[in-house]
Amino acid sequence: MKIAKSVNRLGTEAVYSIFAKTKKLEKQGKKIIDLSLGQSDFKSPKHVVDATIKALKDGHHGYTLPNGIIECREAVGRKIKKLYNVKIDPERIIIMPGGKPTMHYAISFFGEPGAEIIYPDPGFPIYESMINYTGAKAVPFDLTENKDFLINPDKIFSLINDKTRLLILNNPHNPTGSFTEKAVIDRLAKGLTSFSHVTILSDEIYDRLIFDKKEIPTLFNYPDLYDRLIVLNGWSKTYAMTGWRLGWGVWPEQLIEHVFKFCVNNHSCVNTAAQYGAIAALEGPEDHLNDMMREFTIRRKLIVDGLRSLKGVECSLPGGSFFVFPNVKETGMNGEEFTNKCLQDAGVAMIPGTAFGKFATDNVRFNFATSRENISKAIEKVNKILK
Ligand code: PMP
Repeated sequence: MKIAKSVNRLGTEAVYSIFAKTKKLEKQGKKIIDLSLGQSDFKSPKHVVDATIKALKDGHHGYTLPNGIIECREAVGRKIKKLYNVKIDPERIIIMPGGKPTMHYAISFFGEPGAEIIYPDPGFPIYESMINYTGAKAVPFDLTENKDFLINPDKIFSLINDKTRLLILNNPHNPTGSFTEKAVIDRLAKGLTSFSHVTILSDEIYDRLIFDKKEIPTLFNYPDLYDRLIVLNGWSKTYAMTGWRLGWGVWPEQLIEHVFKFCVNNHSCVNTAAQYGAIAALEGPEDHLNDMMREFTIRRKLIVDGLRSLKGVECSLPGGSFFVFPNVKETGMNGEEFTNKCLQDAGVAMIPGTAFGKFATDNVRFNFATSRENISKAIEKVNKILK
């Protein structure tokens, strides 16, 4: 069988291999505390589930337009207006099966041999995977140069050249939990006005999971960039709906027909009933999100204090998301060794920093969207094996 070379250039998400290892150990009778997955332990909001069931009962079971039902696109538009005070034409909003397809499509539109795409390292692994798949040159910006993993605009400007087509940003950030504040993003956006050949993909999937009531530093704040700005967002994280596969992208007008065609060639449309649930999520009460953030704030303190109490572990305070990304160098192990030891000897699953690129060799990612009891037990178990 001869398959296309491009397929062998695709990467993956290490979380799935850790997940498989965890399941294998559990099958052998070992109890594992799993802090590896990238999702919340909260259930999806009841009013969202109810609206979806109602949609099915009402007979919404056929195909929809590939870009999504107009009611859902308008609801996204209203939400953007409410959150950021920006008016976006619903024709620029495309409903997607999750956040991921927006990055897949955006990278496909700009990547080809000879082109360069800049992305964060550490970063969501699919950025680099997809860039490699297209044959473009993957140009990482190193977030480990700063102990809190903040975006450094000057670093980004220094990487842009004539071949740069796309810049990928992610704030709040997976895997580090870092949050770069608006003042810095203002400076970045101002600088980017001088690079009119560079399109920006702003992955804002964690935009509602920001701690300490800080302002959301959305790229929607900069109308000068609109004709080359793609914003990726969705329901997965904000509403604890990862398995629903629901996301949205806001695209420059010029790209809409191409996105539409990709949708037609790929998934036809997003699950119809789920789109009605999506509307309910956007338009309904936000108690669920507020409760989740209140609980995450408590868990953040619990895990950060716990990690800081461990010998050889250094940990900065995440400003957003539900991830924490401690440095474990002083334990005498690198991130991968630490991950393996914790899984085998302590029964605690996490992800090594190298699953997110080449720079974070001494870090590991924990997901703290799990019970306080799990967090405390995990810290206790890791503490035991470090002594
Ligand atoms: N971007 C980032 C930074 C993510 O962490 C994730 C999910 N882990 C996604 C996008 C994809 O989201 P979805 O599950 O909705 O496809």
